Amino acid sequence: MASNRKACVVGAGSNGLAAAIVLAQAGLQVDVYEAEQIPGGATRSLELTLPGFMHDFGSAVYALAASSPFFSKLPLKDYGLEWVHSPAPLAHPLDDGTAVVLERDIEAAAAELGSDAHTWRALMGPLVTHWHDLAPEVLSPVLKIPSHPWLLARFGMNALLSAKVISRRFKSERTRALFAGLAAHSFLSLEQPLSGAFGILMAVPAHAVGWPIARQGSQSFTNALCAHLAKLGGNIMTSFRVDSLDGLSRYDLVLCDITPQQLLTVGGRLLSENYKQQLRKFRYGPGVFKVDYALSAPIPWKASECARAATVHLGGSFDEIAASEKAVRSGDHPERPFVLLVQPTLFDPSRAPAGRHTAWAYCHVPHGSTFDMLRRLEDQIERFAPGFPEIVLARHILSPSGLENMDANLVGGDISGGVIDLRQMLFRPTRKLYSTSAPGLYLCSSSTPPGGGVHGMCGFHAARRALADLKR
Ligand SMILES: Cc1cc2nc3c(=O)[nH]c(=O)nc-3n(C[C@H](O)[C@H](O)[C@H](O)COP(=O)(O)OP(=O)(O)OC[C@H]3O[C@@H](n4cnc5c(N)ncnc54)[C@H](O)[C@@H]3O)c2cc1C
Repeated sequence: MASNRKACVVGAGSNGLAAAIVLAQAGLQVDVYEAEQIPGGATRSLELTLPGFMHDFGSAVYALAASSPFFSKLPLKDYGLEWVHSPAPLAHPLDDGTAVVLERDIEAAAAELGSDAHTWRALMGPLVTHWHDLAPEVLSPVLKIPSHPWLLARFGMNALLSAKVISRRFKSERTRALFAGLAAHSFLSLEQPLSGAFGILMAVPAHAVGWPIARQGSQSFTNALCAHLAKLGGNIMTSFRVDSLDGLSRYDLVLCDITPQQLLTVGGRLLSENYKQQLRKFRYGPGVFKVDYALSAPIPWKASECARAATVHLGGSFDEIAASEKAVRSGDHPERPFVLLVQPTLFDPSRAPAGRHTAWAYCHVPHGSTFDMLRRLEDQIERFAPGFPEIVLARHILSPSGLENMDANLVGGDISGGVIDLRQMLFRPTRKLYSTSAPGLYLCSSSTPPGGGVHGMCGFHAARRALADLKR
């Protein structure tokens, strides 16, 4: 591609940076405009509580980044990225004072799950073995000719089932609870189709690549992407909010790492009425209520096994987690919310002063909620870690609007760029996917396929689409 071609990307989230790298690799001159002071969007680290305590503002656990067919091929190690693996990816404490631990090794996991060993192995095993072939299939638009049809068919057998239906295969309440926590990442009710697929797609990479965190925090992942882009000649302009796309007509391609609502605001004049109508129908999902903690000591878990995992799911049994997610989908605030907690400093002490710790915890809330969930969230932590409040040195609360203020893509606190149900998985955000009604203008955020998560594949596919159109 001639190097006098110019492209710009609006938004330096992981998808914007992925798109910029693909465009720069193709020889285009690339400028990235980022509204915030530092790049990364929901992949940033900030001193949110006390000096010396570094917190992941958004994403913290990188199974998808480590699985990403694009990111995993970039030389990010050369720019300082180091994945840190806790001995086990995930722990799920229960009221009897024990915890179910999801071990990274599938045989060890099966042994831990006792009477469900065979079922777990049969469900996950073949997908774990072929994860490197399956990941590119599931991290791309759904409607395409698959490169590995039998593998996709094998996954597809379960993909449409709800978590509730899949969990009936497990004999033990412990395995059912573990699976509920995995499936609840979907933000769907556990009775909805596709929620089961999320459970499987969270468990399989835990065995295949692990659930790593980034040494020194998520910013080190973003910094590595930025350094690689700079090496390819790309420029990033921070503290530069694009309020209108009108001023970007000098670029051959404009890729927007923003969501449909924002595109309507900044680019409305360039878009056809019909396309705008379709964008207005795009549905955002529930939000999150997040708390970052500076701690004087490690979390005093009742179940000591919890100290082996960077990620801990707090919600008790399958039925309890299902009720919590159903309440959120119905616009309610559960008394006992499902809480996702990450305790990075147990495995990466560089993020806090010596002997001190950080924790990151959030629960799901209805879209745009203004309800204060702090007590309910902390009650869930204390339920499994009595004495937790005594080790809290400081906390920083992010409500849905607080999140959106710090990253405009987190509309109403939605961290996935829009609901991922069957319709919005197939056509995300419209039937045009990455293309818009305006020539040369594309969407590349998590509101496009394959959706939320730090995998960069929305940016990758959008940039490939844009380059193919430009060649034509
Ligand atoms: C609390 C939280 C926890 C999460 N946990 C995980 C996790 O553990 N693992 C995981 O894989 N994923 C996780 N996610 C989801 C993941 O972070 C997102 O799916 C991912 O960041 C999406 O990337 P993106 O590039 O599409 O958008 P974003 O990361 O949101 O980036 C969008 C960028 O565009 C910028 N922008 C917006 N409008 C403009 C404008 N007009 N002009 C210029 N710039 C603009 C924003 O400032 C932002 O930098 C989490 C998200 C949150 C918020």
